[in-house]
Formats: sequence, C-alpha cells, structure tokens
Amino acid sequence: MSADNTITKTVWQYSEPLPEETMEFLKGIALDCCKVKNYVYRKYSGIRNLDNLTPVYSILNEMRHCGLREQLNLPAVYYELAIADAVTNIKCSWGTVKNKVGECISANENLSDDDRKYLRTVLKMGGVYAAILNRQEYEMPRNAARLDIDVKRLNNLLCRLTRRYLTQPRTERADSFRISPNGYSYKDGAMRIVCRVPRKRIPIPLKDNRTFDRQIQVHIRQNDVMLAVPLESRVKKHEDYAGTIYVHIGSQNMFTLSNGHIYGPALEDLINPETERLARKNRERRRMYNAYAQSTESGNVHKAEKIAANNLGKSKYDRQKEKEKLRTTTFINAEINRMIREEKPARIVVTKLVTRNRTKIYAKSANRKLTRNFHGYIRQRLAYKCSVHSIEFVEIHAGGTGNICSACGAEGKRQGREFVCEGCGLHTTTALNMAKNIQQKCERSTLDKKQD
Ligand SMILES: [Zn+2]
Repeated sequence: MSADNTITKTVWQYSEPLPEETMEFLKGIALDCCKVKNYVYRKYSGIRNLDNLTPVYSILNEMRHCGLREQLNLPAVYYELAIADAVTNIKCSWGTVKNKVGECISANENLSDDDRKYLRTVLKMGGVYAAILNRQEYEMPRNAARLDIDVKRLNNLLCRLTRRYLTQPRTERADSFRISPNGYSYKDGAMRIVCRVPRKRIPIPLKDNRTFDRQIQVHIRQNDVMLAVPLESRVKKHEDYAGTIYVHIGSQNMFTLSNGHIYGPALEDLINPETERLARKNRERRRMYNAYAQSTESGNVHKAEKIAANNLGKSKYDRQKEKEKLRTTTFINAEINRMIREEKPARIVVTKLVTRNRTKIYAKSANRKLTRNFHGYIRQRLAYKCSVHSIEFVEIHAGGTGNICSACGAEGKRQGREFVCEGCGLHTTTALNMAKNIQQKCERSTLDKKQD
C-alpha cells in the first residue's frame, strides 16, 4: 500500500429539530427520489441495457429528456443523484448475478475444462456477455478461440443461468436521499437547500458549524435530519509497526490477546445494566399497552387516551437508548485505538464470525444477545481502523480454537469463563486459551505453506 492512499470515511452532522412543513418537504423529496429509482430499475435493469450502464452519462442524458423530472417537479440536484444511485445498484446486482452464475459453472459436473474456460472468459467481458444474452453477433475472445467447445450449447446455458438469477431491484425506502454540492449552501448556521420553487431555498439549522462541499446523504428522522458526509482521509503508514497480534473477540472483555493483554475490559458490564433497564422498560410498556387495549375494547375511550398520552410515547425511550448506544460505541472505538497505539502491530489476526443455526443463537439470554449485537460493529470498526493504519487484517476459521488446550493440545474443559485442562493442569481463561490457539493455528498454517 502506498503512503498517499486514501479511504473514505463517513462523518455525521445533525440538524436542530425542524418545523413540520420542512419535514413534509424533505419526505416529499425522498419519496420522489424513490420513484425515480424504481423507474430507472424498471427501465435499465434488464439484459438489453447491460452494456449501457457505464458510463452513467448516457442514461442520465436519456433520463433528462424522458419527462419524469418535470412530471415530479423534482429539482435536478436530487433527480440526477437518484438516477446515479439506481444505476450503481443495478451494476451491483449484475455483479451478484455474475458471481452466482460463476458458482454454477464451477459446480456443474457436465462441463469440461474448456467449457468452463470459455464461460468464465465471456462472463468477465461485459460486452461479449451482453451480446450473448441478447443473441447478437460478437467477436470470439482470443483466449477462447482454440477451445474444443459447443458454443451454442454453452451460450444457451449462460442465458438460462442468467435468467435464473437476474431480478429487478426495487426500493420502498423513502426516508433518505442524496443532494449534490450545488444543491446547498450555508448561511447563519444553517444549510440552505434547493426546493421545488426556483431560486428559493429551505433552511436546515445545524447543531454545529462545519461546512462541506460534496454529495451529502440526508437521512430523515422523526423531527430532524442526520447528514452523512463522505470524507476522504489519508491512510497512515507507520514504519515502527511490526509483528502480529492474535485477538480473541469476546463477550466479557472485548479483546483478549495471545500475549495476555486485554483491551475493552468488562465491555459486558457496560452493556448489561442497560440491557436490564431496557427489559424492565419493555415489560412495563407491554403492561400499559394491554391496559390500553382493554380500555379501548370496553369502550373506555377517556382512559385509553390518557394511557396513550402518558405511557406509550416512544421518543424518550428512544433517546435514552441512543445515548447508551453512543456511550458503548465511544468506548469500543477508544479501546480499539488504544490497542493499535500500544501494540503497534503490522498484522491483526481474528477468527471469522460464525453464524450458526439461528434458533441456537437466539435461545440464549437477552444479555448475551446484546453483546453479540455489538460484535459485528466491533469487527467492522477494527477492520476499518486497520485500513486507516495500513495494518493487515486477517480472519481465520475458528475451528479447533475452542476446547483444545493451548499448552498440550488435549481436550480441556470450559467452566464459565475459566478453562481447565486435566491433561497438563493448565488453568486459564477461555478467552486467553482461545487467543493462544488462534496464534498456534496461524503459525502452523504458515509453516505448512512453507513446506509445500
Ligand atoms: Zn493441557
């Protein structure tokens, strides 16, 4: 990785609470953008347009003249980004189709090596693939010219497989939209955005004074908006970072390293009181809701209204929940940073996230479930920070890192958080034993590779 690499990171900015007519305006824009996207999906996600998706300019040009923008009275600063987003999604779903077709080709035992080589070659060449799907003439790719194959049969197979996996994207999400830089400006602590009336702008007062000059995603909430701004940040290269750390991601302590160091100590204790509070709150709400339903049923409208007004509001509950969540994510990020700063690794190894049978995972207590909810977040942040600091991030399969004793290799016993091996007498924590097993598994496999 070169030193002048950049990665995109999202920063968030919040608005003050907004008046109802502003909220209605924003929702209207979001709804229209949703309509534009679905129009693009209907018109351009089929095989006939596969070869016209890049550059996006030709579709933009067609869309400028199709009359939809005028019909919706949607300003161009919203209209064009909705189109661009939809085209990106169509390309993305074509990528998925190609992957699935590729998998079928690999798994199909009726194909010879030459057959597979041909299919993989044309699948990679957008223009040729599109021509085959549309039954058009095309020039045989050079490295497929000498293959011993039945081209017609293979092309038919390709069409069939594509038809099987190609679906038309569709969106019902009308709670966000993107706005281009020429669609907004700043004045008196507010962002002023283009509206449907020419030369008029709608003020969105902001909670801080930061200003930006790029495409911004506007997320509509109950009575305010959240702005997602993509910012480029430079990748840092640390000459003094060396060696590998092996990390077990746990429920009690966030990270346990094979060298015994712990980061994010007692993460569980930070999350648990909150979990209990939420459970209590939920029980209470259920009780009030039942009372409300009963009153409504028995015709006691006055009582029902009173309950609804005083006890069934969600905004305070949501606010508290959000505040707790922010406290936890701040802690997680600070501890990941501390680990990177103190360990100075060139490489970080963790185990892959295993998604087992759903019923098994959710049968456990609510406490464990909530820590688990953060596991995905922790991994995502760790991977992201690795890319910021040019640290190699490696995920290995967890197999054999659970019950094996890291000292002697015999099967040990887990007793809650403790790990005990009757073979050699090792007594340690389950987390540390696993971290050490990750290290050994990793070192064994590099050794195997060297011997090959
Ligand atoms: Zn042992």
